[in-house]
Amino acid sequence: MSATLELAKQLIARRSLTPDDAGCQELLIERLEKLGFKVERMRFGNVDNFWARRGNVGPLVVFAGHTDVVPTGPESQWVSPPFEPTIRDGMLYGRGAADMKTSIAAFVVALEELPTKLPGSIGLLITSDEEGVAVDGTVKVVEALQARGELIDYCIVGEPTSNLKVGDMIKNGRRGSLSGTLKVKGIQGHIAYPHLVKNPIHMAAPAIAELAKTVWDHGNEYFPPTSWQISNINGGTGATNVVPGEVDILFNFRFSTASTEQSLKDKVHAILDKHHVEYELHWELSGKPYLTPKGNLSEAISAAIQQAYGVTPELSTSGGTSDGRFIADICPQVIEFGPLNATIHKLNECVGVADIDPLKETYKLTLQKLLK
Ligand SMILES: [Zn+2]
Repeated sequence: MSATLELAKQLIARRSLTPDDAGCQELLIERLEKLGFKVERMRFGNVDNFWARRGNVGPLVVFAGHTDVVPTGPESQWVSPPFEPTIRDGMLYGRGAADMKTSIAAFVVALEELPTKLPGSIGLLITSDEEGVAVDGTVKVVEALQARGELIDYCIVGEPTSNLKVGDMIKNGRRGSLSGTLKVKGIQGHIAYPHLVKNPIHMAAPAIAELAKTVWDHGNEYFPPTSWQISNINGGTGATNVVPGEVDILFNFRFSTASTEQSLKDKVHAILDKHHVEYELHWELSGKPYLTPKGNLSEAISAAIQQAYGVTPELSTSGGTSDGRFIADICPQVIEFGPLNATIHKLNECVGVADIDPLKETYKLTLQKLLK
């Protein structure tokens, strides 16, 4: 059996629901130490992370990934149990098969197949808190590396980025995510005495209409235009004869690098003020955007994918946030590439068995292209 498939199965068999790593990292550490990696276990809060490095000259190429997985949903609705890796009709099933235990296995086996003496250095940054709140995971390891001046030249994140065929898409950035909690204030009262009330829903409506039709930016070469969406509106007492005193609105921006956190905030405040809305607004930046323009790393991975899968990847910044946003603080080139994302976070998550060895080959070829 393929060594990558074997290791992927061993990882899937460990029930590593965020933030519990369930022994995945020790399994990897044992194999990496045999290859001459110096491993630092970095536990923050209740999260296991590790940083492994071999070599102390540049360039430093790092693989980043997470051993944690999302909850299974009703296990009885899985065709085979989520933590019993099972091959059926050419697919390997199990929670984490695509997101992202197979990628981790592929990278480790690629290292096992490469000579231990390569020019430059190789690192691995592995966390068990990517799927959760992500406060004690990659961000903390990056802070520790940054504090001692350890910078990364190239980082490959093994997230499942492929869309219809493995290799058709790599991610060279992600949009930012900015949320707002808006409370519009009015004056509560009897609906039959409108001169004694101030209806916050009526006050908010024209501002909402304008926010909804605002073009925030046009995106750029790498990003689609910024989008603004309301996720919740709550107001009213439940009674039909009471005008409520306030209305609560939650909204979120997914923003491109054509806008900034500040430019978006300023525009929202300007629109609310223009409509004379009385309000309180709290902001939360849940992810900064990051962008890796075309360069050595995107070229090396694209050429490796072409060789291993016979597919030419498209660069994309679509999808949710990823740990790439943290790594970008200490690394100028971060690219994400991994299996198909069609089944991630779903029941019966799977990867194609035939796609597993080419993934290992892709990581291996990429390392060979960058470290020569
Ligand atoms: Zn993931």
